[in-house]
Amino acid sequence: MSVREAIEAGTLPDRVWIYSNYHCNLECAYCLTESSPRSRRRSLDAVSMIAVAHEAAELGFREIGVTGGEPFLRRDLAATIAAMAAILPVTVLTNATQFSGDRIAMTDPLVGLPVRLQISLDAPDPEPNDELRGPDNFAKVVDAVPRLVERGLRVRIATTVEPGRLSETDHRRLCELHRTWGIDDDDHLVRPVLREGRADATGMGARFERDQLPPELAVAEHGAFWSAFGPTIRGDVADTHLLITRTILPLATPASALLRLVEGRPQGADANIGIR
Ligand code: SF4
Repeated sequence: MSVREAIEAGTLPDRVWIYSNYHCNLECAYCLTESSPRSRRRSLDAVSMIAVAHEAAELGFREIGVTGGEPFLRRDLAATIAAMAAILPVTVLTNATQFSGDRIAMTDPLVGLPVRLQISLDAPDPEPNDELRGPDNFAKVVDAVPRLVERGLRVRIATTVEPGRLSETDHRRLCELHRTWGIDDDDHLVRPVLREGRADATGMGARFERDQLPPELAVAEHGAFWSAFGPTIRGDVADTHLLITRTILPLATPASALLRLVEGRPQGADANIGIR
């Protein structure tokens, strides 16, 4: 079976994730990549990011996800995303803290393109959100989101919580908040903290096995991995337990290797942890 046939049959997910960089202005308690302002950047250059999008489209993938670190710390990010969005639709995960005041203009190149910004907001109140994500994070997000929506950008809200810890009341209040911004329930996702990276050090999150993770291809500067949760960092060292190949381009190399792994899985192995 070719990669294209596997995607069409639903054997392989149709999205490729790209880790654009690993540094971040925040230092969240559960961060899978131990990102912080002091992190090594491990940036994947723009030419490689655009090449991944081109080759992903040629192989039959239908979407690109971009994550980090905080991607918008890169000055070339918006132009790079715009170039990729001319090839495939792009979802960018961001903490939305770089869009204060006039700085929101950095999103100009993305307006009108098939681009979604997926923004983290973990609680309907500042205190519990900021306890995990840093001082004033809640205020910055609730300032940025409506202004991004007003500019015509599609925004999704991602709530990351300890498994089973989001109360019905808090879930309802988060939904009331995103609906006031014109964001539908379909664009609000709740996902579990996984015990990786800093979450491991802080004793947070659920442990998991590889086959619980959707076999989405994820590429970073240092290799290609099984799942967007694969290219994690622990003690400033890149985790390799979900590494597929050190080669990322040509993309057919890790994509074919991922397909062989998926085809070799035991019957009944079902992914049940998603990043959407
Ligand atoms: S979880 Fe996201 S916003 Fe928080 S430190 Fe990690 S990369 Fe930055």
